[in-house]
Amino acid sequence: MSHIHTQAINVGRTPQRFDGLVNTPVFRGSTILANSFKEWEQTKQNGDLYRNYGRFGTATTKSFEKAINDLEGGAGCMVFPSGLSACTHALMAFVKTGDHVLIADNIYGPTRNFADHVLTRLGITVEYFDSTCLAELQQKINAKTSVVFIESPGSITFEFSDVAAISDISHQYAAKVLVDNSWATPLFFKPLEHGADVSIQAVTKYIGGHSDLLMGTATANAESLDQLNQSVHFFGETTSPDDLFLALRGLRSLAVRLKQHHDNGIALAQCLAAHPAVDVVCHPALPNSPDHALWQRDFAGASGLFSFYLKTQDPAFVESFFDRLEFFHIGLSWGGYESLVLPVGKPYRSTSTLPSDGYLIRIHAGLEHVEDLKADLYQALDQAANAI
Ligand SMILES: *Cc1c(COP(=O)(O)O)cnc(C)c1O
Repeated sequence: MSHIHTQAINVGRTPQRFDGLVNTPVFRGSTILANSFKEWEQTKQNGDLYRNYGRFGTATTKSFEKAINDLEGGAGCMVFPSGLSACTHALMAFVKTGDHVLIADNIYGPTRNFADHVLTRLGITVEYFDSTCLAELQQKINAKTSVVFIESPGSITFEFSDVAAISDISHQYAAKVLVDNSWATPLFFKPLEHGADVSIQAVTKYIGGHSDLLMGTATANAESLDQLNQSVHFFGETTSPDDLFLALRGLRSLAVRLKQHHDNGIALAQCLAAHPAVDVVCHPALPNSPDHALWQRDFAGASGLFSFYLKTQDPAFVESFFDRLEFFHIGLSWGGYESLVLPVGKPYRSTSTLPSDGYLIRIHAGLEHVEDLKADLYQALDQAANAI
């Protein structure tokens, strides 16, 4: 098999089907006509429920789903109108009233909100665990646990989890393991190869890559695909072919963009770690990171997203830092070409502990020249120190 960077160029492309066009065009459509009564009946009989109506996707959808599925190494991929929608529908596929679900304490905040406000309303018990602590998983998992949902690394605080070990434990209880894999993308980590049942992408982030679309995917292994498929189609989710075209376009340059995000992220993490105003930098490539060994074992690279704690919580310092930055703009999301910075302060955690009492800041290292980015962080930190 070819290198995954080569695969990212070729997956999901069938130019011969589209008059030789390199890219699958935007196909818009709701009604898909059958040529005869017999053909109409056959599409139903083949169990091919998903070919006869636009809600189940057009050729643009299928190209993208096939591309992501091939990269993730799954049995099938479903696309969703946002990353959050992929997380929530994947959860709904595997739970029923009376079940217990275990969710990593460092999960993406809106996924946590969904579990707390929707799953609990359906009579599902939601419990959080520190996904870096296998003993805590062992202690909390039980015969009613139907889903273990993790994100590696965790949102905002970037702890890494041992997906293989978590999958082994969870499968002893017949629980499905869902992994939000948005940080790494399948180019840097493939959860299904490590035993997970479903791998989720916020396509909005690195795969889209240009801060101009919202989308998600869930890719399942063979044992989990039917349940995921059915449940998702019951909900009627559908994704715009125009956005899918953009996502396919983003995918083609993912490998080179990720390499630059990786390099810039590591350089910024190192430079922040050396600054006197900084307490802890949460980046797995730093040799003193508690996650360094696990990251090196499982991942092919780092993305440009990481965080750091200031030594202080001083509001004047914090405000001055953010307002003096020139190339880092304050904003949600990440994975685009541009550098971003997010004021976090103190992230909400219910079972795990944080490594610092300082103010937490999330950084997305974009594709700008790294010397400009380093200088920008340094001048803002230095001037903030003068502001107090
Ligand atoms: C942004 C994000 C999502 C949600 O993606 P949207 O497209 O914004 O809904 C899910 N998981 C993680 C880890 C994210 O960072």
